[in-house]
Amino acid sequence: MSRLFPIIENIKVDLKSLISIKHTCDPEICSEKGSCCSEYEVCMEKREVDKIVTHIPEAAKFAPQLIANGTYRNIFEETDDNLVSIDTDEENQCLFAWRNGKGEALCSLHSHALKNNLSFYDTKPESCCLWPLAIYDGSPKILTVQDDAFNFDCNKRHKSEKARLDPEISSIINNVYGTKMLTGINHAISIM
Ligand code: SF4
Repeated sequence: MSRLFPIIENIKVDLKSLISIKHTCDPEICSEKGSCCSEYEVCMEKREVDKIVTHIPEAAKFAPQLIANGTYRNIFEETDDNLVSIDTDEENQCLFAWRNGKGEALCSLHSHALKNNLSFYDTKPESCCLWPLAIYDGSPKILTVQDDAFNFDCNKRHKSEKARLDPEISSIINNVYGTKMLTGINHAISIM
């Protein structure tokens, strides 16, 4: 059991789920179907809000709905479990989302990062950077695949002769949790 759910860097890792998924972020898919940015309530810890707020002026250049009456709107709301959520519009779309001329759904925090040579891992909420993975509360926390991730066309079953992570999933883990975590997960997969 612990071989399938090892604790690495203080996080319980659901290895079977992580190796089961292949992810490709392609905004063209979002122009046709629902996007992750209109499916989930994005929640974060209060310390993360300060980071996001510093990027709102640049994000608003892509997503003008972040401004009302000449000032930046307060788009954050405290949740019952002491986290902070991002408000959504009438179509349930995150207020940081915007559509380009081709109708592709994009994240203004991500677009700002690309435009200004920043890493989007430094401008977006952690839960968005993790998609299609998710971290669930617990003691310790559990890293796995988002429950309904396979409902989205950007996620497919990862078929490989040898158990291993999809490169995009590796990149997400590396960028969010660091090389030590990724190395630990790869090792755990190799002895699974
Ligand atoms: S912050 Fe960006 S990536 Fe996250 S839900 Fe909003 S638009 Fe999507």
